[in-house]
Amino acid sequence: MSETADIAIIGAGFSGLGLAARLREQGVEDFVILERNADVGGTWWANTYPGCACDVPSHLYSFSFAPNPDWSRTYSPQPEIRAYLERVARERDLYRSIRFGTSVTGAEWDDAAGRWALTTSAGPVSARVLVAAPGTLTEPSLPDLPGLGSFAGTTFHSARWDHGHDLRGERVAVIGTGASAIQLVPAIQPDVAQLHVFQRTAPWVMPHTARAIRSRERSFYRRVPAAQRAVRAGVYAGRELLVPGFTRRPGLLKVAEQLSRRHLRDQVADPELRARVTPDYAIGCKRILPSNRWYPALTEPNVELVTDAIREVTTRSIVTAEGTERAVDTIIFGTGFRAAEIPVGHWIRGRGGELLSDAWGGSPRAHLGSTIAGFPNLFLMLGPNTGLGHSSMVYMIESQIAYVTDALRVMRERGAAVAEVRPEVQAAYNREIDARMEHTVWSTGCSSWYQDATGRNPILWPDWTWRFRRRTRRFDPAEHTLRAVAPAPAPAAAG
Ligand SMILES: Cc1cc2nc3c(=O)[nH]c(=O)nc-3n(C[C@H](O)[C@H](O)[C@H](O)COP(=O)(O)OP(=O)(O)OC[C@H]3O[C@@H](n4cnc5c(N)ncnc54)[C@H](O)[C@@H]3O)c2cc1C
Repeated sequence: MSETADIAIIGAGFSGLGLAARLREQGVEDFVILERNADVGGTWWANTYPGCACDVPSHLYSFSFAPNPDWSRTYSPQPEIRAYLERVARERDLYRSIRFGTSVTGAEWDDAAGRWALTTSAGPVSARVLVAAPGTLTEPSLPDLPGLGSFAGTTFHSARWDHGHDLRGERVAVIGTGASAIQLVPAIQPDVAQLHVFQRTAPWVMPHTARAIRSRERSFYRRVPAAQRAVRAGVYAGRELLVPGFTRRPGLLKVAEQLSRRHLRDQVADPELRARVTPDYAIGCKRILPSNRWYPALTEPNVELVTDAIREVTTRSIVTAEGTERAVDTIIFGTGFRAAEIPVGHWIRGRGGELLSDAWGGSPRAHLGSTIAGFPNLFLMLGPNTGLGHSSMVYMIESQIAYVTDALRVMRERGAAVAEVRPEVQAAYNREIDARMEHTVWSTGCSSWYQDATGRNPILWPDWTWRFRRRTRRFDPAEHTLRAVAPAPAPAAAG
């Protein structure tokens, strides 16, 4: 395949599909979506582990322009979210624009031509505009455990669930106690003979308010869409009330802490276990996890919580630092993703051939999480500092979609083929982000996947989400260099 398009979009998850749907709505047809998987869904295609569900209510965790009155639960299970995204792609006629099984491995900006040259597993693609929507929680993070290579049993990551492997009656180790692990452990516990859960840091866990949505309620949403919009707005506002506690005064999260402590007291009677699952860092510094099933699962007779560090893996066992050996048949990694690294940085080359990861120097930065000096006509979806700990990522995605589509409109109207953010604009924006970050709960000393190699937090948006929406509503041409195809002089490096 050799393909030419005006716009190339990498990824067919919420971001890529949402952008494509909006482009089509606006009559923009000359785009192609490059997706390495076999179908749409991204996160919700890849994560099929037992118990997988969203932890932001579905009425908010869905596109505002494609409401689904038929969610069966307030927090939908993965198969429903995946089916929802497939339906959006079908109804918006997006499938014909998607090239599945196409992995993008290189992107080079040709300044003279004003185009991106992409290398993909299916052949070269040329595009004027490149939108990278590869997701942040995409590349599994695997711990570097001594001896792991010699393990003779089965191993897999939660995001690469091996459905061909039967866990029934097995001795299983789950490594990690993050968002995926606390969903999958209660789901597999009844089936396995023995479950060892290896915890490095205890998560703060909140009571879950998930419930089934009755068919009466669903048909009401179908008949009165405004009612579902009102519920969505209510969920949004409720979540936004948490922002001051996360971003300005962590002390305000004391109420949440008390709720979480009571939840733990109610669910775990054994004082020794309770002590070991009590977090030792400020609530909110890492993602707060909702579950009514996590603590009860840990108290089951076939479950052991292990808090000693892992020393090594042998052919059939895991040995901890104090020398205890536990025989296991399968090791499941609930160890999350390489989020702060932004893997596309290792193969996107901008003006002058500079690698994005080199431009970042270990700490990703962009303007409004979207554009980067030295990388003309490149837009990142869910780029640096667009993540949330409290609300729906789809809200941030839709904000960025508005930004990208407005950028394309401005360029069209001004006859500009190429746009590039001014380095001083990007630098000032990032100084502001870093200054705000200092006052957040994420800077209270815990170590988390929110931090990059330099200790900076390039993941989270440290403010009200409506402020992000306001700032991304319009693409400001004054913040960018716009030009026809002829190259502009190189600006100075951005901070
Ligand atoms: C288990 C789990 C639960 C989550 N729950 C929530 C939640 O409750 N609420 C919330 O707000 N967020 C949640 N998230 C975050 C979630 O990732 C985002 O909400 C959202 O799905 C991101 O969409 P995306 O399209 O940006 O990225 P993704 O869904 O990750 O899609 C990116 C796509 O890009 C493709 N891709 C990547 N690199 C390449 C390449 N080089 N070539 C070709 N294709 C490529 C991938 O195959 C993938 O299909 C969760 C994440 C996980 C892992």
